[in-house]
Amino acid sequence: MFVTLHGAANEVTGSCYLIETGNARLLVDCGMFQGSKHLERLNFIPASIKPKELDAVVLTHGHLDHCGRLPLLVRNGFQRKIYGTDATLDIARLILTDAAKIQVDDTDRENRKRAKAGQQAVKPLFNLSDVERVFKLFSPQKYNKWFPVAPETSVELVEAGHILGSSSVIIVAGQNGGKRRLVFSGDLGQWDIPLNRDPAEIDRADAVFMESTYGGRNHPAYEETVTELRNCINEAIENKGKILVPTFAVGRTQQLLFHLFDLFRKGELKRIPVYLDSPMALAATQIYSRHTELLDEDAKDFFSGDNIYHYLPNLKLCTTALESQALNDVEGPCLIMAGAGMCDAGRILHHLRHNLGLPNTLVLIVGYQAKESFGRRLIDGANPVKIMGQTVFVRAKIKSVQGFSAHAGQTDLLRWLEPLARHKTKLFLTHGEPHQLNELRFKVEESFQVKAEVPSIGDVIEL
Ligand SMILES: [Zn+2]
Repeated sequence: MFVTLHGAANEVTGSCYLIETGNARLLVDCGMFQGSKHLERLNFIPASIKPKELDAVVLTHGHLDHCGRLPLLVRNGFQRKIYGTDATLDIARLILTDAAKIQVDDTDRENRKRAKAGQQAVKPLFNLSDVERVFKLFSPQKYNKWFPVAPETSVELVEAGHILGSSSVIIVAGQNGGKRRLVFSGDLGQWDIPLNRDPAEIDRADAVFMESTYGGRNHPAYEETVTELRNCINEAIENKGKILVPTFAVGRTQQLLFHLFDLFRKGELKRIPVYLDSPMALAATQIYSRHTELLDEDAKDFFSGDNIYHYLPNLKLCTTALESQALNDVEGPCLIMAGAGMCDAGRILHHLRHNLGLPNTLVLIVGYQAKESFGRRLIDGANPVKIMGQTVFVRAKIKSVQGFSAHAGQTDLLRWLEPLARHKTKLFLTHGEPHQLNELRFKVEESFQVKAEVPSIGDVIEL
């Protein structure tokens, strides 16, 4: 049996494993590389994957770096089933549709420039009809229930606690009369945080491929993170300013809505108007409402039916661009959640352009900001900044609250691994920057006396 890494090796995006047994060929994830031009050049389907000969694809969850190359796979001839939990496939639909629109818009813009310069037009990586062909292959599966994906090959999806629907993938495949059991962690979440259930315990495997995003460190304590959020918002309310929260549509938005509700309910925050200025975040919230059975007990009631609007009567939705622009005339204090999460595109840009120059504005950053993103530059104190062609002198307060991560920190990663390590599994660390991988490798070897390998992209592992 062979496992080939076609992404997320020594870095965090492009997750894609090819598993080949004597009887079956399948992919676990088929994600997009993101973060730099250099990485984006890797967004193709390597010939060795042979899409026409694949038996199946299994998705761990719906983030783009785990499903974003599916349209390319289908265009290259893959026509079998794509498995995932029901919620994962709902989220993948939302995220791939959005990605297709961005691809087409970006390419149109680029081609207008190229036309002026007399250069040849370029094509988008994929478009809406490509993603529609992907959706036709979706086959939703239940958690904790084995299903066959190829001859002598079965899969079980178990809770990974990362985002709604996220799963670790267990594969049992027949080989030479025996059976091999492989575990792919997928992205793992933190234990004991609101909304997501805790990652499931997996106790046995012949080989484990484990994510290592935060392998080298722990997050701040979750309660402290919520307290910090509350204190920042209260200060901005006193200053009667606008609170701009660049938000990721799936996961972070719902987490924040839940905490705002909880803080309002306890009387720890004044009920200021909250604007959800993101149709995509609204659509993602509706997916959460459709799958409340997957949420932890606290969140179930909040996301059921229309409860969110009863519990948050001060929540206002901005679906149209006009409604979004109208927020420019709204007086503070108020809180505006808008995408994109790293401030590189989307409606957050016009809010920043209008409000960064005001000293009573608070830009509250609650998500990961990549190195070259606009959000990262704001945190690093860039001033003045250029937004939508306009130079703005930053007088607003920029505050980054860390700790809401959807990823397990080092202690939680070790907690997940412990039962597997007890059985001396073969361990491969993936989905992490080199220093995170190395620190986790050291910690794993020290804690469990299990040797961990850190494979590179393109490596073929024989098991
Ligand atoms: Zn993820």
